[in-house]
Amino acid sequence: MKILLLGKNGQVGWELQRSLAPLGELIALYRHPVDGLSGDLSDLDALRATIRQVNPDVIVNAAAYTAVDKAESETRLADRVNGEACRVMAEEAMSLGAWLIHYSTDYVFSGEGSKPWQENDAVAPLNHYGASKLAGEQAIVETGCKHLIFRTSWVYSARGNNFAKTMLCLARDRESLNVIADQVGAPTGAELIADVTALAIQQVVVRPVLAGIYHLAAAGEVSWHGYANHVIAFARLQGEALAVKVVNPIDTTAYPTPARRPLNSRLNTQKLRDNFSLHLPDWQSGVTRMLREVLNK
Ligand code: NDP
Repeated sequence: MKILLLGKNGQVGWELQRSLAPLGELIALYRHPVDGLSGDLSDLDALRATIRQVNPDVIVNAAAYTAVDKAESETRLADRVNGEACRVMAEEAMSLGAWLIHYSTDYVFSGEGSKPWQENDAVAPLNHYGASKLAGEQAIVETGCKHLIFRTSWVYSARGNNFAKTMLCLARDRESLNVIADQVGAPTGAELIADVTALAIQQVVVRPVLAGIYHLAAAGEVSWHGYANHVIAFARLQGEALAVKVVNPIDTTAYPTPARRPLNSRLNTQKLRDNFSLHLPDWQSGVTRMLREVLNK
């Protein structure tokens, strides 16, 4: 099996380099050209040429325009990378008979209510990032290529910046923190997403009936405020010297951002667990692992 991975240096892309390696020949690209192959999703002609040249059995797209607030002003770039590039990948996958594996987000939903979103619930993105990701999903489905689309939420990895690391930094310096308490979701590790992707590819290539959209997130739920408290309590237990004395819960309305965020980011993962016979661990286990790595404990 020949696999073309796009976005190899992102949180999920980095972990996919590890999890996809045992499945076959892996050609992993990032936005800068290597050996005449371009992994830049904003250059649609070059992307098309790269896919034709590689001639993969599976395309895994971990690249995306993920700057949620910036997407409100850089709408054209977000649309090209998250929407139009997906159509190019899907068209090329279709003509090659290849699989296209792609990632999307709970931001395709309105964030209303408190019920975990199911795959066929009505979509209604609140911000431009969500709308551009939805356009990508729709392009893939419309094209009719063999695909898996994993909608996930609140992705973190030990590599690069993440919410937990930011909270640790702030907690070392400040006595009081304000953290949003009315947005609820499940922090989901890039490692878990990459491992599930590899397991799902192995199954879907022999059972194409499993193709479709799936919700993929760690089990359980928490607010950003609860997540921050968890991180701080864990760090304290590990002997970290923290200045923080109080973590105040605040509402989203008290922290205005250019892009609106959904309050309900809960994803119902039953379909994924049933169809692929998978177990999704609770969010705390992955976060603890990441914190041990970050704190070097
Ligand atoms: P990251 O932001 O960590 O990685 C995205 C990658 O895409 C980066 O390596 C970035 O490169 C690359 N990229 C951006 N623009 C281009 C471009 N024009 N051409 C090629 N590469 C480009 O994202 P994640 O790993 O967290 O996200 C993986 C997937 O999961 C995405 O589809 C995202 O929409 C989705 N998702 C993410 C969530 C999150 O909380 N992070 C939540 C829900 C869904 P560079 O570093 O050079 O900019």
